[in-house]
Amino acid sequence: MNDICPWCGRVIDGEFIFCPWCGANTRQAWKDDSGERLYRDERQKRLSHIEKSLDALDRELAVLALSEAMHR
Ligand SMILES: [Zn+2]
Repeated sequence: MNDICPWCGRVIDGEFIFCPWCGANTRQAWKDDSGERLYRDERQKRLSHIEKSLDALDRELAVLALSEAMHR
């Protein structure tokens, strides 16, 4: 069974007590109440927003790299 780390949002094996990605104590976090969940959801939302921004940036950089390569 997999869990989502409440701190970094990555999928972690349910066996882990600590998140292998960020080192957070997941057992501790899961025991906490909805405040922790809310925080996690907000964080998840922010992360996916950042991810989208990065995707857009990535495409822009690819276009820039392409046009630079063509002008060489
Ligand atoms: Zn984590």
